[in-house]
Amino acid sequence: MSRIAYVNGRYQALAAACVNVEDRGYQFSDGVYEVCEVRGGRLIDERRHIDRLKRSLAELRIAMPMSEAALGVVLRETVRRNRVRWGIVYLQITRGIARRDHAFPPPGTPPSVVVTARNMDLANAERQSSEGVAVISVPDNRWERVDIKSVSLLPNVLAKQAAREQGAREAWFVDRQGRVTEGSSTNAWIVTREGRVVTRHADHAILRGITRTVVLDVIKAHGLTLEERAFTIEEAQAAREAFITAASQIVLPVVRIDGKPVGNGAPGLVATALRRDFHLHAEAT
Ligand code: PLP
Repeated sequence: MSRIAYVNGRYQALAAACVNVEDRGYQFSDGVYEVCEVRGGRLIDERRHIDRLKRSLAELRIAMPMSEAALGVVLRETVRRNRVRWGIVYLQITRGIARRDHAFPPPGTPPSVVVTARNMDLANAERQSSEGVAVISVPDNRWERVDIKSVSLLPNVLAKQAAREQGAREAWFVDRQGRVTEGSSTNAWIVTREGRVVTRHADHAILRGITRTVVLDVIKAHGLTLEERAFTIEEAQAAREAFITAASQIVLPVVRIDGKPVGNGAPGLVATALRRDFHLHAEAT
């Protein structure tokens, strides 16, 4: 089945879909995006993703291109046309098409909207979660507003590639104080030897993951102790467990950090329980 993309009002074959060369997303990475899990054909935590999208747009002074209801229809229609049962839907909004000039285009320039959706390999995801994954650490060389879900992802791309080249699944960014901020496309967590769950506080130095927000609810429901604070790579290597979270992966246990095993080198009980119960706390619409 050929995939379908929504591009500025039209559903087209993905292979033929394109954007204007003067789209500001293409020229300046002047845009934002969201990725939502699709499960059983339904969108997971759509409301939270749209709320975060509106915040990212407002921070960059890009207009919401259509009503929330209309956006919801486009997301669902793209999922339907691609027959996605379990996978992701991707939404990107840029500041639109204009003659190349760094400053904003004239008021009223319509933002560009692209939506794609695809199935994911469920068996592979389950295998990864049962085996756990490796992460490496890299210096955090991103700008100071990574709380905005902008499509400017070059440091993230380079970090992920470095991870791949070292046989790891993810790269954890480490700030100038030697503390982990987050992964290149995930939030970072540890479980201390005392059983406390630790993740960095959500300031401008991390993206406030929607999965992170829901996992905080699962942690509460399980009566676990939470600490929202920074931690170092050394603390993570000495922890009982580590894991990463993102909409496309939910909760994924981390079993190696910079080549050192975490805990007994196998997925931990807390990460496994949080993954198992995640969808009891997420919203499906
Ligand atoms: N941090 C970064 C840098 C990301 O790119 C992502 C997801 O793409 C996340 C965290 C996790 O966010 P979410 O749980 O909303 O997918």
